[in-house]
Amino acid sequence: MVGPEGETVTQRASTGGLPSDGVIDATLEEVHARYHGLDDGEVADYIPVLAEADPRWFGLSLIESAGTVHEVGDVDTEFSIQSISKAFVFALVCQSRSSELVHERVGVNNTGLAFNSVMAVELNDGKPLNSMVNAGAIATTALMPGTTSAEKWENIRSGLSRFAGRPLRLDGRVYESEMTTNQRNKALARLLESYGRIITDPLDTVDIYTRQCSLQVTAHDLAVMGATLADGGINPLTGRQVVSAEVARDTLALLASCGMYENSGEWLFEIGLPAKSGVSGGIVAIAPGKGALGTFSPRVDAAGNSVRGQRACFHLSRALGLNLFASNAVAQRVREGR
Ligand code: GLN
Repeated sequence: MVGPEGETVTQRASTGGLPSDGVIDATLEEVHARYHGLDDGEVADYIPVLAEADPRWFGLSLIESAGTVHEVGDVDTEFSIQSISKAFVFALVCQSRSSELVHERVGVNNTGLAFNSVMAVELNDGKPLNSMVNAGAIATTALMPGTTSAEKWENIRSGLSRFAGRPLRLDGRVYESEMTTNQRNKALARLLESYGRIITDPLDTVDIYTRQCSLQVTAHDLAVMGATLADGGINPLTGRQVVSAEVARDTLALLASCGMYENSGEWLFEIGLPAKSGVSGGIVAIAPGKGALGTFSPRVDAAGNSVRGQRACFHLSRALGLNLFASNAVAQRVREGR
């Protein structure tokens, strides 16, 4: 803990607005046109079925906290959510157990290492460090309430569906494909067990984790899910409170430091938004109080982040004033009476 123990201070929020609908729509079109021909990166194939994705797919969705939808390209194409599920499972566990529990058991610091690193666990006495890398995500899934594995899985599926505002379905082919090739995740779960870091059955927990990664979403869904975190935990399309404003805030803080794996620092420096990526090509980037971007394009870089998605977020963050750290000089204008 960095903050004072046992002391609470009421959280006030301070965020600006977005440009007009016309500016947002024109900027989305421009960004889509600019990057749709970019062919850097590769479609992930370490989960064999993912290799079937069409590398041309490219969709951009921006949903405002107030509910207005702006989209261009392949925003209705379904793909497996993969690592982006980690952000929302983290939020659900914080909501149903507590943020402090996840902070204490899993951690909230970046590993500086790849998403599937075994070494990160070994270097830290078995502590997985954060819920956005595989070891930490498995440890977080293990904390999901439910007396049986089926109940835990149903809590995750229905919880993520509340974020999306529609029932999400499992892609059985992706699930089967990953279950036959995820020896490393099973090893990570056994390693956590050996350190006493998970007390549920490790292989059952990996099974639930793999299911959560296999839920099918679209770029539109990602924007709705992100906009829920941007809107104090209320889904802007259904009006339903999915998690508390405090949990939404805690989730965004974790995404800012860990959401883009070992590239999180570079991402925050350049783009200035909490975000989460998945190896199937999705990215969700959140501008608190304003809205969220959902992007989808399957070619990913070495860290597993979508190449076109990152470029699009970079451009949109600047052009639409989304960067959390950007400000305009006010004092000078006031002094000059402008
Ligand atoms: N299901 C994938 C895995 O566990 C998720 C990884 C990712 O999207 N980076 O390897």
